[in-house]
Formats: sequence, C-alpha cells, structure tokens
Amino acid sequence: MDKKTVRDLPDSQIRGKRALVRCDFNVPLEGARITDDSRIQASLPTIRYLIERGGRVVLLSHLGRPKGKPDAKYSLQPVAIRLEELLGKPVQFVETTDTDEAIKASHSLKDGEVLLLENTRFLGGEEQNDPRLSRALAELGDYYVNDAFGAAHRAHSSTAGVAAHLKPAVAGLLLEKELDYLGKALASPKRPFVAILGGAKISGKIDVIEQMLPKVDAMLVGGAMACTFFRAMGLETGKSLVEEDRVDMAKDILDRAGTKLILPHDAIVAPAMDQPERAHAVARAAIPAGEGVFDIGPKTAESYSRAIASAKTVIWNGPMGVAETPAFARGTEAIAKAMADATAKGAVTIVGGGDSAAAVADAGLSERMSHVSTGGGASLEFLEGKPLPGVEALEDRAA
Ligand code: ADP
Ligand code: MG
Repeated sequence: MDKKTVRDLPDSQIRGKRALVRCDFNVPLEGARITDDSRIQASLPTIRYLIERGGRVVLLSHLGRPKGKPDAKYSLQPVAIRLEELLGKPVQFVETTDTDEAIKASHSLKDGEVLLLENTRFLGGEEQNDPRLSRALAELGDYYVNDAFGAAHRAHSSTAGVAAHLKPAVAGLLLEKELDYLGKALASPKRPFVAILGGAKISGKIDVIEQMLPKVDAMLVGGAMACTFFRAMGLETGKSLVEEDRVDMAKDILDRAGTKLILPHDAIVAPAMDQPERAHAVARAAIPAGEGVFDIGPKTAESYSRAIASAKTVIWNGPMGVAETPAFARGTEAIAKAMADATAKGAVTIVGGGDSAAAVADAGLSERMSHVSTGGGASLEFLEGKPLPGVEALEDRAA
C-alpha cells in the first residue's frame, strides 16, 4: 500500500484532534431497520483505533440515492443507533444539513467522542464534487481519513474533493485492508490463480475479463454471461439472457483466451425464471429452444470446485445463477463451499461484488473466506485496473 494510513500518524496528531472520517455506512434498510450491518461492523477498527488514542471522531457517509436534498427515508439516524450499540459508547447524531452548524458541533467534541453527521448526499454539490462543498467539509476536521472503500470509485466531495483541502489525508484500516487483499492478489498472486466470473451481464464485466485474463491461470465463467459465450460458439441458448450486441465481442475473447477461459459444460434450465419447479439439468449442447439457463449444472459445479480446490488464490465476482431462487442457487452455493474449503487449506480467497457477497453470507460462509469486499462497484473497478478517485486523493507514503 503506497498511501499513508492512520497508522502512519503519530499519536500526537490524533489525541485531541478532530478526525474527519468518511465511512461507507450505505447499509440496506427496511424502513428504519438495518437488514445487514456488515458495513458498520467493518468500519469499527478505524473508529476504535482513533478513540483509543483520544481522537475526536467526526463521521461522514452517504446512504442510498437521495437527490442532493434531505429525504427522511435515507437518514443515517438508524446507523447512529446501531453504531452506538456496536461501539458500546454514545454516538452523537447531528441531523442538520447546515455545514456551519455541523462545524460548530465538531468543535464541541471531547477526546474519545464520536459524532455522526447526516447523509452527505443530502448536501447539494456532493456528487458533483463541488469545490465549495469540499472546502466546507474540510472545516469539519483537523485531518481526513477515508475508510469508505465502497465509495472509493466515486469522485465526490466527501470521498475525494475534501482531501485537497484537508491534510494529512490518509486511508483508514478498512480501506487499507481492501486494497491490500485485492492489490496483492493482482500484483503477486500465489499460483494457481483462479478467477470466477458470473452475474447477469457480460457488458458489465468485459473490462474485468480483459484485465484479468492475462494474470490468471484459469477463468471460470458462469451466470447469464456464459450464455452470450454459448451463442458465440453457435450453441442453442433458448430463452436465456443473451446480449446480442456482445456476441461478436464474446467470439473475439474466445479466440484470444485459449484454454484459460472455461465455460460451463452443463446447465440448469427451466421454461422461465418463475418456474423453478420445472428446473432440470442438461448438457450445454442440449439447451431446449423453449427454455432458458438459470444456473450452472452439477457437472460444472463439480469441475469448478475441483479447480478451486487446487488454487492458491481465488477471486470471485458474480453468482453462477439466479441465486435469489433456491432451485437456481446450487451452483453459486457450490462455489462458495469450494472457496471456504480452499481457505481452510491455505488459499487466499476473495469475494467481490454485492450479490456474490450476499450469496456467501446466505450460505453462512463469510467468515470462511480470506476477504469479503465491502465494495461491489469499487472492487470491480479495481479489478478492471482503474484508479479509484477516493484512493488517488490520499497522500503517498513516500511524500
Ligand atoms: P455481483 O453483484 O456479485 O457483482 P452481478 O450484479 O453482476 O453480481 O450479478 C448478479 C445478478 O445476476 C443476480 O441478480 C442474478 O439473478 C443474475 N443472474 C445470474 N445468473 C443468471 C442467469 N443465468 N440468468 C439471469 N440472471 C442471472
Ligand atoms: Mg450486483
């Protein structure tokens, strides 16, 4: 990691000073109930690190997609309550979107106290990376910590712009951990290095395929994405989700990939996604014209599991099928299980992608992976080799 982190700050920089910490508290809500608090949990190490050293912590985050103005259903109030429970200490919550008021509140903090401000996307200018807003946010702290990996691919005021006006600007422990896992896997993977790619659309993953193919020893493909490749191979794909405008591109990838790119040998098909009771397995050359592919088949699940078992580094992005439906979730579950077993045997296993992470959590296997990324979009852009604005904005370690 070539960026400074909170661990590079001397304790004298932390004690009595206001740390402006951008977290990713973008949690799923049902009403005011948080259905998955893993992003809050993942933010705890940095917050604890700072309060244990007498820091005064000012927390920022976005939640959902309000349109630059307050919207009660995206309030961070439920996060304040949950964070307070997890930290075991009071968390002040300031509901205001008046930055002057928020700045005043930040100055009244005492050593070791924590303040959470309201949703950054209630503020006009946040998503435009407005320099005026960035300058105002910079007055909320004496230094800046970015721990919001899940928002690091966005150049917004609270994730990037603010760092130009507030120094030191360093990474939090979660951001550091995410970049370490993903960065090491790409730069110096223990081999064999296996990537598993799935999900709905090849169009959303094309840059990942291009970027990773040269680096991996094998790329195992599943999800609807496989069907666009099937079409490119001239196979019947029936009612499967195929991106017609990507078939030529899929052909081109197949021509260049050689034996590294591995496609399913069989599939679970059904007349429609909402007829899981009619699901059955077929060879990939026998997909019925009146049915669609909704999961990888059992033979594929087995051979992919074997490939994972012999790998030393595994990166997975995208479910193997419509994992939301139990009848189409077996392929995805098999991958999760194989990765958990590989972790136990010493492999580095990384899960990136929101739906993949949810599938692993549903299978109760999150703890058995080396790393489950908290950032779907951000991890994808990192794997695509794109610079993350929220990381670029931080100070280099050598500087
Ligand atoms: P992630 O969030 O892990 O990056 P994606 O968002 O790319 O994953 O893909 C997840 C979506 O892909 C899910 O909604 C899943 O239902 C869908 N999907 C996977 N396989 C298929 C398939 N064969 N047909 C239709 N949809 C699929
Ligand atoms: Mg997704």
